[in-house]
Amino acid sequence: MQEFIERSIFTEEHDIFRHSVRDYIEKEIVPNNAQWEKAHMVTRESWEKLGANGFLCIQVPEAYGGMGITDFRYNAIFTEELSRSGCAGPAVGYPLHNDIVLPYLLDFGNEELKQKWCPKMASGEAIAAVAMTEPAAGSDLQGMKCTAEDKGDHYLVNGSKTFITNGYLCDIAVVAVKTDPTLGAKGISLLLMEAAMEGFTKGEPFHKVGLHAQDTCELFFDNVKVSKGNLIGKEGEGFKYLMHELAQERLVVGIGAVGAAEGIFWKTLQYTNERNAFGRSISQFQNTRFKLAELASKITMARSFLDQCTALHCAGKLDAAMASMIKYTTTELQCEVADECLQLHGGYGYIWEYDVARAWADARVQRIYAGTNEIMKELIARKFVGK
Ligand SMILES: Cc1cc2nc3c(=O)[nH]c(=O)nc-3n(C[C@H](O)[C@H](O)[C@H](O)COP(=O)(O)OP(=O)(O)OC[C@H]3O[C@@H](n4cnc5c(N)ncnc54)[C@H](O)[C@@H]3O)c2cc1C
Repeated sequence: MQEFIERSIFTEEHDIFRHSVRDYIEKEIVPNNAQWEKAHMVTRESWEKLGANGFLCIQVPEAYGGMGITDFRYNAIFTEELSRSGCAGPAVGYPLHNDIVLPYLLDFGNEELKQKWCPKMASGEAIAAVAMTEPAAGSDLQGMKCTAEDKGDHYLVNGSKTFITNGYLCDIAVVAVKTDPTLGAKGISLLLMEAAMEGFTKGEPFHKVGLHAQDTCELFFDNVKVSKGNLIGKEGEGFKYLMHELAQERLVVGIGAVGAAEGIFWKTLQYTNERNAFGRSISQFQNTRFKLAELASKITMARSFLDQCTALHCAGKLDAAMASMIKYTTTELQCEVADECLQLHGGYGYIWEYDVARAWADARVQRIYAGTNEIMKELIARKFVGK
C-alpha cells in the first residue's frame, strides 16, 4: 500500500516488521474475517496463533515470558496494518489486549499478578478486557455503581459493566469498582477479575451496527470473591491509573482511524478507476477527482499529525489534550472518508460484501468509545480555554 507522506518516524527494522505483519494479516486474518463477522467474534485459536507468531504483548519483559520490546512504534504498526486491511473487529480487539489492558498490569500490577498473567497474555492463552462503562455510567465514570466491599482478605464485588470489548471471550478483565461509594474519583479502584471466578457471568455478544467480528458484551458480578492480591496498584487510586493510561488508548484509536481511512481510500481509488459510466471511468469526472483530492489532503494532514503524536508518545510527552485532539480529529475524518468513499461506490457501497460498506459501519463507533468526541473537546478546551 502506498504511503501518503514519507514516514520519518520508522526505521528499516520497522519496515521489515511491517511486511511480516502484512503477510500474516493477508494469510491469517483477511480470509477468516467474514466467518468471524457471522460468529460475532474471532476464534480463540486466532489469539493463540497471534501469540505463537509473536504479535501479542511484545512489550512484556523477558522475565514474564515476553520479548521486552518497548518501542511503541512496533505496536503502532500492528494496529495500523490491521486497520488498513479493513478487518475492523480484529483491529480493535487485539490492540485493546496489547496496548490498552496490558499497561495496567505492567505499570501498576503486583509481582504475583504479572508472573501469573503476562505469559498467558503474550501467548494468547488468556484474553484480556477492560471494564469501566456501566449501563448508567459511561462518560461520567465517577458515577459508577459497581461496588467492591472490603471483607478482610478479599473484596465482594457486585454490579455490572456494559459494552465490553473482548468481553465474551475474555479470561481476565481489569474492572473499575467503587471501594468507597461515598467518594467520587477517590473511591475508585481497579481489580483484576478472572472470568472463571464464581458469580462472574457474561451476556451474549451485542449485535452492533459495525465491528461485527468483535465480541462486545455485558459482564455481571454477583457476590464475586476477589482476593486482595488482585488489586491493581493501591486502593482508591484507580481513577488516577485510568487517566494515566487513557492517552495511549486514545492514540491507539487514532492509529486505527487513520489506518482504516487510508485503507478504504486506496480501495475506492481502484474502484473508481475500474467502474465506468457515460463511456469513461468514474474517476475521470471532476467531482470524483475533487472528492479524492480532498480526502487525500485531509488524510495526509492526519497522517502527519498522527506520526508526530506517536513520536511524542514514544518520548513520554503526549499529554491528555494532544491525545484527545488526535482521537477527535482522526475519528471524525475516518467517518468522513468512509462516507464519501461509500458515495463514490454508488449502490454497491451499500452492500455488506463490499469493503466500503463495512468501513462505513465500522467507523461510526470510533467517535463514541475511548471517551466520546464531545468529552475529547472538553479535555482540549480545558487546556486551551481553562476549566
Ligand atoms: C462497540 C463499543 C465498545 C466499547 N468498549 C468498551 C470497553 O472495552 N470498555 C469500556 O469500559 N467501555 C467500552 N465502551 C463504552 C464506551 O466507552 C461508552 O459508550 C462511552 O464512553 C460513552 O458512554 P455512554 O455510552 O454511557 O454515553 P453517555 O455518557 O450517556 O453519553 C451520551 C451522549 O451525551 C454526551 N455527553 C455526556 N457527557 C457530556 C459532557 N460532559 N459534555 C458534552 N456531552 C456529553 C456524549 O458525548 C454522548 O453524545 C464501548 C462502547 C461501544 C459502543
